[in-house]
Amino acid sequence: MLNFVVHEHHASHLHFDFRLEMDGVLKSWAVPKGPSMNPAEKRLAVQVEDHPLEYGTFEGIIPEGQYGAGRVVIWDSGTYRLVAGDIHAGRLEFYLKGKKLKGTFLLVRMKGKEKEWLLIKERDELADTHFKLKTILK
Ligand code: MN
Repeated sequence: MLNFVVHEHHASHLHFDFRLEMDGVLKSWAVPKGPSMNPAEKRLAVQVEDHPLEYGTFEGIIPEGQYGAGRVVIWDSGTYRLVAGDIHAGRLEFYLKGKKLKGTFLLVRMKGKEKEWLLIKERDELADTHFKLKTILK
C-alpha cells in the first residue's frame, strides 16, 4: 500500500498540499481551495516540487523567511492504490482510503499546461454532494 497525505498549510495564502507516494517520493500538488468529496467541485491543483517521504508526517511551523513560512498540519492521510493512468501522461485515477477523503479520485493535467491539474472526486457511492471543507486550524 502507498501513502497519501494532505497538509493544511497556512502560508501567505491558505492552501492544501495534496501528496501521493510515488517512485520513492511524495508527488505534490498545491490545491488553493482544498480537496472536495463533491464530484461537482473540480479543484485546481498546481504541481509543485517532489517532497521526501519523511515529509509526509511533518507538522509544525515553517519559520519566517523560509519558503512557505507558516503553520502546517496534516488535514488527512491514509493509503491509496493506483487504479489507472500515469503521471507522465497527465492522468491519474486512484482510490483513497483516508479519514476524510475516500473512494476514487482523478487528477488530470489541463490541456496545454505543464503544472496545472484538476483534482476531481469521481461519482461513486462515497461521493458527498454536501461536502464542506473544514480547516483544522483557525
Ligand atoms: Mn504548501
